[in-house]
Amino acid sequence: MTARDSEALQFAMANTSRVIGTCRLCHSSGVELQDSHIVPALAYRRIREPSLQNSNPVKLGRGKAVQTSDQVKEYMLCFPCEQRFSAAEAYVAPLVRQPDGSSGLEAMLSNYEATPYGWHTAKATDLDRAKVFYFAASVFWRSHASHLPDRCELGAKYGEAFRAFLNEETQRPADAAIMLMVYERAPAAAGRVDRLLTLPASRRADRYHRHQFLMCGLRFDAAVGAEVPDSLHAGCLLQPHETRILVVPQSDDTANVLALLRSSRPTDRLAATLLK
Ligand SMILES: [Zn+2]
Repeated sequence: MTARDSEALQFAMANTSRVIGTCRLCHSSGVELQDSHIVPALAYRRIREPSLQNSNPVKLGRGKAVQTSDQVKEYMLCFPCEQRFSAAEAYVAPLVRQPDGSSGLEAMLSNYEATPYGWHTAKATDLDRAKVFYFAASVFWRSHASHLPDRCELGAKYGEAFRAFLNEETQRPADAAIMLMVYERAPAAAGRVDRLLTLPASRRADRYHRHQFLMCGLRFDAAVGAEVPDSLHAGCLLQPHETRILVVPQSDDTANVLALLRSSRPTDRLAATLLK
C-alpha cells in the first residue's frame, strides 16, 4: 500500500468515525488513531472571548482574517501516546496567563535582574523544567510530523531525534535547546498577548534553525543544529544549572500581530463585527 493509499484509507475510516493507521510517535501499526491537536485544546479555550456574542478567535493567515471555531488537528497518535502528551499539557495549563491576569509561571518567579536589552531574567526554582521542555518539544514535533502546509520543519534527522526523545527512547534530543519566555503583564491597550496563539514556525538563523510558537502569554523558542551557540544552550530548560526565565515586554510580538491583522482582508461578517 502506498502512503497515498494509506492516507485515503485513513480518510475513509474517518468518515465511519474510527481511523486506523500507524502512530507517528511509537510506530505501532493497525491502531486506532486520535484526532490530535497540534497546539493543545487548552490554548484554544483560553483565546475565546466569552463576553462576546461570537466568542471565537480571529484566525490570520494568507492575507485573510476570519473568525472561526476551527482547531488545527490531525489523526497521528495512538491513545497511549495522546495520553502521554496530555500529561505534559496538564502541567503547562496553569502556567499560562489566566483570564484574571494571573500566571502560574509568573507566580514562581523571583530575583528579577535587568538585562541591557530592556528585558529581565528571573529565577524559576520550583518550575519542573523537564516537563515544560517535553511539552514544547511535543508541540514542535507534532507540527513537524503533520501535513500542515506551513508546518514546523525540524528536518529528517532532528525530527527523528525529537520523536525518539518524546517516545522515551533517548534522554534528550541532541543539539537542541528549548527556551521559555514569559511576557510581562501589560495594559489591555498594549494588545492582549494572553489571547495570542501561533502555530510553530521555522526560520534559518546563521548555521542552525530556529522554531517558535506563542501560547497565551508564554513564548517557546527552539534552536536546533550542531552549531547552536553556547549562549542559547545556556538558556535551555534542560541545562543542568539554575534556570533563569526571560521576562520580556510584549510590545514587539503583539505589534507584529496587530500589523498582520491590519494588512489582512476580513470576511464580511468579521468586518461588520469590527465596525460595531
Ligand atoms: Zn503511539
